[in-house]
Parts: sequence; C-alpha cells; structure tokens
Amino acid sequence: MTDCIFCKILDGGIPADIVYEDGHCLAFRDINPKAPVHLLVIPRKHIESLDGLGAEDKELISHMMLTIPRIAKQQGLVEGYRTIANTGKGGGQEVFHLHFHILGGGELHPM
Ligand code: 5GP
Ligand code: ZN
Repeated sequence: MTDCIFCKILDGGIPADIVYEDGHCLAFRDINPKAPVHLLVIPRKHIESLDGLGAEDKELISHMMLTIPRIAKQQGLVEGYRTIANTGKGGGQEVFHLHFHILGGGELHPM
C-alpha cells in the first residue's frame, strides 16, 4: 500500500473534489486554498516531482501542459491564472507526487 496521499486520491481511498480527469491526469481542489480557485493537477503515474521525469514521460508531461489551460478555462479563469510546481524540499514541496498548482480568481501577489 502506498503512503502517497495523491495516489490515494487517484485510487479513491481519500476523497477529493475532482474537477477534471482523463486517462493521464486528474485535477482537484486544494484542501487548503491559497486563492479563490486553487486546483492541483497530477499525473496518474506516480512521479515524485519534475526531477523524477524521464524521457519516457515526454508525452505525459506535454499532455499535462496542454490540459492545464483547458482546466483553467473550464473553472472560469478566463482572465488568467498562475501555474506553480514546487520541486523538492528546497522548493517548498510537501507532497512528493508531481503536481501543478493552478491559482486564480482574485488578486495574486506579484512574484
Ligand atoms: P506542495 O507544497 O507539495 O507543492 O503542495 C501540496 C498541496 O497539497 C498543498 O497546497 C496542500 O494544501 C495540498 N494537499 C495536501 N494534502 C491534501 C489532501 O489530502 N487533499 C487535497 N485536496 N489537497 C491536499
Ligand atoms: Zn503518488
């Protein structure tokens, strides 16, 4: 049994507010939102972070990058949104299953 929270969301062991899913990825609302809309987009394949991607994941990662704008628009983020991937402890990553944050729907702090 995996200890990965996001794998548990993928297999239904932990409930989540899922807003999008397809054969490669899943998007759900962050449990502790930092913006009016705060989604997490994860691959179905367990990959720890961007650092864990291999050449074999090219199609998967490009699919995710093409899908993020569609999910954002579906969720009403027509004026724009922020996409973040925290990588490793030094990058502030807390859940070690690759995920892209989508944030929007209000004022965001400049970066
Ligand atoms: P990280 O810091 O790893 O980039 O972000 C992990 C995110 O996952 C955090 O924003 C946190 O609120 C969210 N999160 C952690 N556990 C859960 C959970 O069980 N369900 C949901 N929906 N989000 C979670
Ligand atoms: Zn996982």
